[in-house]
Amino acid sequence: MKAADAAVRRQWIACEQCDLLQHEVELPARAVACCRRCDAVLYRGPRTRLDTMIALALACAIMFLVTNLFPIATLSTQGIAVSTTLFGSAQLLAEQGRPVVAVLMFVTTILVPALELSALLYMLLPLRFGRVPSGMTTAFRMLLAAHPWSMLEVFLLGLLVTLVKLSELASIVPGIAFWSFCGVIVLFSWLSASFSTRDLWRWTEDARQAQASRAQARAGSAEALR
Ligand SMILES: [Zn+2]
Repeated sequence: MKAADAAVRRQWIACEQCDLLQHEVELPARAVACCRRCDAVLYRGPRTRLDTMIALALACAIMFLVTNLFPIATLSTQGIAVSTTLFGSAQLLAEQGRPVVAVLMFVTTILVPALELSALLYMLLPLRFGRVPSGMTTAFRMLLAAHPWSMLEVFLLGLLVTLVKLSELASIVPGIAFWSFCGVIVLFSWLSASFSTRDLWRWTEDARQAQASRAQARAGSAEALR
């Protein structure tokens, strides 16, 4: 493939403002392509690399596991110490007659982030090895649908207010999960800021081409053996 051919991407792109069809070209990172007629922004260059996204998602998944396995805080008063995990907090809320709050907490701080991370890793890991996972579109739709329901920051804020209020009545020691929870929030925000649908489809297209050329090579060698 000639360098000039490599620079021009295979497809056309229509300007959202004036409908002018233009050739899509590879852009350097964070560069912007503008319409040649009306100067509107057509698309942006790669926001991040696939390896960076995978590293962030894996780090986030490990931190998320730690957050769910270890106690979030230990309360001690009059010689009695009580500690609870994230899931334990939801259970306690349900036992105290607040099932709606318990379900909301479970969904927004455990279920939805877990779904988001699973969908992301399910898509990114095979792409890294040049394979397009089956159900890629479903996983992407799930990621888009789940994202608005992830409310880790809201929970952390609520938790901080509760801990400060309780600190007047009991001595409180934040657990490992509390610190990893802060880490999860930082990494999640970083992931969200780095994620770009355009990058994802570009990686998918590259993996699809790699898959096709592997299939072609296999067919070629099978032909040669005959
Ligand atoms: Zn235009």
